[in-house]
Amino acid sequence: MPKIRILSEQLTNKIAAGEVVQNPASIIKELVENSIDAGADQITVNIRNGGKTLCQVIDNGEGMNKDDLLLAFERYATSKIAEVEDLLNIRTLGFRGEALASIAAVAQLDAVSTLLGADTGHLLRIEGGTFKTIQPHSPEPGTAITVKSLFYNVPARRKFLKSSELEFRKIVDVMRKFALIHPEIEFRLMHNEREVFRLRKENLQERIVHLFSTEYRENLLPFEFDLGDMSVGGFIGNLNLVRARRGEQFFYVNQRFVSDRLMNNAIVTGYSGLLSRGEYPFYCIRLQLPPGKVDVNVHPSKMEVKFQEESRVYQFLKNSVGESLHEITKVAPDLARFAPATYYAPPVVPRTVPEQFPESHLPFDPQAAKPSTGAQQEMPIHFSQKLDQETWKQRAHRYTEQVDVPPPDGYSVHAQVHQLHNKYIISQVKSGLILIDQHVAHERILYEEALQSMQSDQWKAQQLLFPQVVELSVTDFSALLEILPYLEKLGFRAKEFGKQAIMVEAVPAGMRWGNEKTIIKEILDFYQEFGTKDTSIQSKVAASYSCKAAVKSGDPLTEEEMRNLVDRLFATKNPYFCPHGRPIIVNISLKELDKRFERI
Ligand code: ADP
Ligand code: MG
Repeated sequence: MPKIRILSEQLTNKIAAGEVVQNPASIIKELVENSIDAGADQITVNIRNGGKTLCQVIDNGEGMNKDDLLLAFERYATSKIAEVEDLLNIRTLGFRGEALASIAAVAQLDAVSTLLGADTGHLLRIEGGTFKTIQPHSPEPGTAITVKSLFYNVPARRKFLKSSELEFRKIVDVMRKFALIHPEIEFRLMHNEREVFRLRKENLQERIVHLFSTEYRENLLPFEFDLGDMSVGGFIGNLNLVRARRGEQFFYVNQRFVSDRLMNNAIVTGYSGLLSRGEYPFYCIRLQLPPGKVDVNVHPSKMEVKFQEESRVYQFLKNSVGESLHEITKVAPDLARFAPATYYAPPVVPRTVPEQFPESHLPFDPQAAKPSTGAQQEMPIHFSQKLDQETWKQRAHRYTEQVDVPPPDGYSVHAQVHQLHNKYIISQVKSGLILIDQHVAHERILYEEALQSMQSDQWKAQQLLFPQVVELSVTDFSALLEILPYLEKLGFRAKEFGKQAIMVEAVPAGMRWGNEKTIIKEILDFYQEFGTKDTSIQSKVAASYSCKAAVKSGDPLTEEEMRNLVDRLFATKNPYFCPHGRPIIVNISLKELDKRFERI
């Protein structure tokens, strides 16, 4: 008996499914690609439980007759290529002929299709790759594919599916990518019977506005360039649309969304000096070139491509973006983006009220909490909170108690503190001197306080005089629903306001935000950027919040503010590292200094 055997088709299909079908979003991607290839201009996607129980795609495309419907689910069955040469001239999204077979292998699937013009349709049923039935069906235009109980026969894979919310967010991402390159197609997305969006046929600018928010309308620069056989076009966002996360960058090659680090780099390089590290501009760019000059068959889900003239394409993209951004004034962000933030002490609820607290130890001067510069005075008054002496005392107490890790030897609250370049705080300690990074220090403080208040539910909200409506993209909105309960524990109050917007009614008391809209979006960016890291939702929200609420590098601090910051830092559990593990304090010992000055 030989030990090697050829695997059955059913088994090979299941194995192959691993490449194409990773999660509900990849099913939606393949099915919608097929609908687009079939020439549909109306595509409806129905999802239940993040796609785990149902993924359904209904289109009005050219449809299939009975024989094609049966063949479509065979492996390597495709109508899109026939000869080897065809691989060099691919104009469709699909061509490998394996998606339907792969999906059918790991789910229960119904396909109903009517060939355009035919007077009867057919229903085909397959379960776990096994043919069940094919029967006549009333003629409904196009094709409807219904995928139920994903991975019901591969329990190991089912276990790897994430929460319904997370799986659904990936589906929204996929849909967004299609919607942005096909504004001429009507897309409707439903989740658990609720309509998430319905996008009518429109132009690209309107499509972007509907998928993101109205704020995008005035902040998009259209662009269009040709270079021989290549052309590039679309919209790039000005600096008002810069985000802290890569999510809003869309690059298409011949109508196919691709993630290509090099080409994304070309685009961002086109912004040249306008962006700083950690800033990601919005763009929706389509590149068109002869199909023979780009190989799309280098990746199973076709997310990556290979360019024949890589550097020519790179230069073209970079120069086109650079050219459109030429008129620098167009891209200058609103003043608000540069408005100086003032550092305010966050409110902390004391667990014990001190009987006596020496006046001189007050770490924070309430007077200092008043806005000082002109730019700040324009900000709404609801941010400047007046606190009575008693509250300050209570806070002061809290800042100096519960020291788990001792401050550097010899640190005293009376030590002189200085600010260096509006970025670092320098202070003398017994052993030499310490340098503190003001941003990460504040981040650490806020992080611990946020975690604590999420457990105790005690942080106070501060009503806004003028509640703010924040419009969100579909992705941001579903992420927000996920973290809203935690934000509320921090003192945010927000309620749904229309389908894709929230009304922010209160923010954590004592915080000076400047712009709630930005802060909510920044928290969301940060939160989603950390989506892959294996931390609890609480600590992610706390980290996002603290990073965004903390005093920034570049913010001038008064002496009181610095002292307060340092005192509170040493009251945290770990004053030496920020929530992301960056160092907060750098120690330079006297010995080190003496060495450098060649005293020893
Ligand atoms: P590929 O898209 O790579 O050809 P698939 O397995 O996705 O492979 O689909 C197999 C074939 O089934 C396609 O080539 C196409 O002819 C047909 N097909 C799939 N979906 C549809 C649809 N929604 N409308 C019409 N034909 C379809
Ligand atoms: Mg396909």
